[in-house]
Order: sequence, then structure tokens, then C-alpha cells
Amino acid sequence: MQSTMMRTPLNLCHFLERAGQRFGSVEIVSRMPDKSLHRSNYREFHRRARLLAEALQRAGLRKGDRVGTLMWNHYAHFESYFGVIASGGVMHTLNLRLAPADIGFIANHAQDRFLIVDDVLLPLFEQFKALANIEQVIVVPLTGKPVPDGYLDYEAFIGASTGDWDYPESDENDPIAMCYTSGTTGRPKGVVYSHRSQVLHTLSQCLPDSIGLSGRDVILPVVPMFHANAWGIPYAAAMLGTKLVLPGPHLHPDDLLPLMESEKVTVSCGVPTIWLGMAQVLERNPGKWKLQPGIRMMVGGAAVPEALIRSFDRLGMTIIQGWGMTETSPLATVAKPTHTQPDDLSDDDRFATMATQGYAVPLVDLRIMGDDGEQPWDGKAVGEIQVRGPWITADYHDVERSADSFTDDGWLRTGDVAAVGPLGFVKITDRTKDLIKSGGEWISSVDLENAIMGHPAVAEAAVIAVPHPKWSERPLAVVVTKTGATVSSEELRAFVATKFAKWAVPDAFIFVDAIPRTSTGKFLKTRLREQFRDWQWEPPLSNEALLMSVPLAR
Ligand code: AMP
Repeated sequence: MQSTMMRTPLNLCHFLERAGQRFGSVEIVSRMPDKSLHRSNYREFHRRARLLAEALQRAGLRKGDRVGTLMWNHYAHFESYFGVIASGGVMHTLNLRLAPADIGFIANHAQDRFLIVDDVLLPLFEQFKALANIEQVIVVPLTGKPVPDGYLDYEAFIGASTGDWDYPESDENDPIAMCYTSGTTGRPKGVVYSHRSQVLHTLSQCLPDSIGLSGRDVILPVVPMFHANAWGIPYAAAMLGTKLVLPGPHLHPDDLLPLMESEKVTVSCGVPTIWLGMAQVLERNPGKWKLQPGIRMMVGGAAVPEALIRSFDRLGMTIIQGWGMTETSPLATVAKPTHTQPDDLSDDDRFATMATQGYAVPLVDLRIMGDDGEQPWDGKAVGEIQVRGPWITADYHDVERSADSFTDDGWLRTGDVAAVGPLGFVKITDRTKDLIKSGGEWISSVDLENAIMGHPAVAEAAVIAVPHPKWSERPLAVVVTKTGATVSSEELRAFVATKFAKWAVPDAFIFVDAIPRTSTGKFLKTRLREQFRDWQWEPPLSNEALLMSVPLAR
């Protein structure tokens, strides 16, 4: 017997068409570099995304070609999310916070043929363009200034389309988007998403026991559109017809709060750093902004401190913690305290549950593996989180498959270490990957160690992640100098600063006689992390210095 059901392929472009057909007048509001507001709607979004698809094909895009984007969150990036896919291309979001050499490597490795770039980010593009083989550069004139010679003007590019265009043939497993993530060792690695993976991720993400989005929400994604598909928000917004508020380059609480007030935002999402800053501003200025009651904030990318959850609760706002990775599309778990638990939990239990990473969302399988095999869900036994499911990557783009990343029986090894409680709530306790996550961006400790050990006065260096009240973590370097040699922290900082983005340079260099080692001779980082757990960071790092590593029109 066979099922009688149609085999209609899952396709993200269905959301584009649905948005044009049903939600035409729903607004899309974008903050421009000069802080003015650009107002558009789903009718325009639908029209222009299709024009972009046609223009890309006219410009020679072949199915599967990569189209890089180097853009902030705004209407044109949203159009590109769908226009590139509709053309048959693969949308490749480039992370503008990385060092130019890394962006160049990534654009080259992905073989980006086209690039769509904000005019305000052209100076950044100029720094890596020699490293990549981009054939056509399309510039979004956000400032209204003329586009420099040699580049295409986005408005003229899509303006030359006729609208007489139809979708190319596609399959639900076709590649549609890609994102690179930091490798523990070696270069960043690319994850390639499909229609099928993203449609299913979107449906799961919108469930009430997941993030619970609806067409009645007004959503402001603070998470950049170049981080793991902006956590799937663009796809979900188009599917539901949710009013979108896009903050452009202005991510400081003083910029976000008036926007949340004026546009009546009900849901937002971003890394803890954003909300740590916002909680302080709100507590210092009670009643200053008339926000919608019961705003929900989806927070992930790093562990969310319980104190932050409690702060927002006092302010009448709810944090929903999620956990995931670029490799998991990203949403894999979400923490809603009343899911399978009673409604009348004590405040302490409720907050403690919200501070876990939560339970696996439907269709994601999760297990924890210790040295002696799979661990029980008793809230005590710890092991590496391993996941599998329809939106979990089974490989990396053009990188040999390794046992460090995937198990023989087909699960993704996440490098996160956790215990799982009897009801399936995951609590991350550690990380096996040698990486530091600062303000939502990865820093490779191995790369930093190699750079520091390149200094002639340094014998050994170990770099560890140390908790930081604002950035979640910051790098701290423990250094042993060569016999008879001396070097200061300032000299080492300046030495490293030539090779890394400003925010990736360690804030502290601690000089010691010897670095503790394991029996096999590796640095014993667990001991170092324990030793420096309560390190007092000084001076406090400014938003400006770390959130924004590229020049902005502010
Ligand atoms: P990325 O691929 O850049 O999205 O980073 C994914 C990694 O961020 C995960 O493997 C975790 O190490 C970390 N991460 C994401 N969400 C959380 C969370 N809620 N709590 C703790 N760590 C998290």
C-alpha cells in the first residue's frame, strides 16, 4: 500500500508567495545608518525579492551559485534572504565582525560569485576583496550616495527586471543558504542549509512550546542576519506575516528601546550581552519607555545568567532561553518552565528552569555521551551533547568529515558538555571545544596561543575563556616567558592586535612560571579556568570597542 498524500516538496519560496498574497500591508521597518526609519511592507518585499531573483539570473547566476551578503539587518537583507533563494542561488551571509582576512578566506572557500554589500560596509569589503573571487558586486545605497564606479547599484540592478519571471525547478533538498562557523582548530567551516531543513525548522520554531511566534507579534531581531540565519526569524516572519523591525547597525540599548517603544515590539532576540546592557538601562530609567506588556526575548548563543532572567521578570519582560549552533540551523532546545512542569512552580524553581538550556524541540533527538557511553537523564551525569534531526548538519562544506565532529552512528558532536534532568531539561556545564564566545562572536584560543607564542620573548601561552559580566566570556592569556626574556602586557597586546579583530585580543596577560599540564602534556585548561573563574576585569570594556569592530556611520 502507498500513502495517498501529495509529495509536494518543502520550499521556502512558498513563504515568499504567501507573504505577498496575504500580508501585503504588514510593515517592515528598518533603521538606516543615519538612524532614520525606512518603511516598507510585505507587498514591496515580495515584489522586490522576485525582482532580485530575476536580476541575479539575468546577471548569469546558475543554480547553486553562492551569493555573499555583507549587510546589517534591514529591508534589503531581508529581500536578499528570499530573492537569492528564489533565483536558485545559495544565500551566503558573511559575518562583518570577523577580521578581513577571515572574511576573505570564507568568501573564497564558499566560492561566492556575487556579493550584495551595504554601501557603509564597502571600506570593509575593500580590505578583503583581493582574497576572494567575487565577480559582481551589488551595492545597497543605504546612505543615498552614488555607488562607486565598478560596482552595481542594487536599486538599478533590481529596477532593470521586468517582473516577467518564474521560479526555476527545485528540489526540497537543494542548497539554499550557508553560514560559516568557527572551527576549534583550523579555519572556519561552512554549513549548507536546504529548503527542507529550513521549512521544518521554521515550523518547529513557531510552536507554542518552542519560541511561540505568531502573526500578531511584532518582532525585532537584534541577532545579526549573518549569525545562523538570524535564528530563522526571517523565514518565520515571512511565513506568519509578522511585522518586522530591523535595527540596522544601531544595537545599543539607547537605540533599541525607543524603536521597541515606537514600533510596539512584542518579541525580540539576541545574545545575552545585548540584554545585560538593556536591563541596566531599564533599571536606571524606570518608566522612561512605554513598552508593550509581556515582551518576550529569545536569548541564546551563550548561557543566560539567572540574575538576568530575574531582572527582566521584575521589569515585566520574559526571557526564553534557547540553545543551538550554526550546525543546528540553529534552534535545538528551548526552555519554557511550564512545559511538562506544573504552572504553580515556585519562583526559584521557575527561574532555575529558565536558566537551563531547555528541552529538545520536536524532531531533534538529543543524547549525552560520557567516556563510558550514553549517560542517564538524572540531572547529575554529564557528557557531550550530541544531536540529530532534519535541520542538523551531517557534514561541513568541502571539509573532510572527522570523528571530532560526527559520530560513527550519525550524530553531530556539539562540543558542549551538559547534564540532562529527568524531564529532559539540559544544563550546560562546560565546553570541550577550545573556543571563547564573547558577545556572541567566537574567538579561537588555539589561534591566539599560536600568535602569542610567535613573540620572541614567549615560551608558552595558554588562552582561556573567563566569565565576564557583559560579554559572557572574554579571553585571558596565561604566559610563560623564555628564560632571561621580559615582555609587558602592552607589548603582547600590540603584537596580537596586528593579527586579530580588536575584540578578539585578550584583555589580560598573566605571567606565570609554568602552565599546569595533563598527563599527556596538554595544557590543563580546566585548572586554569578554575583558578581565574572570579577574575575581576578592568577596565570595563566599552560597547563601542567590542560590539562594533567595523567603522560605522553613527
Ligand atoms: P554558533 O555556532 O556560533 O551559533 O555557536 C554555538 C555554540 O554557542 C554552542 O555550541 C554553545 O557552545 C554556545 N551556545 C549557544 N546557545 C547557548 C546557550 N543557551 N547556553 C550556553 N551556550 C550556548
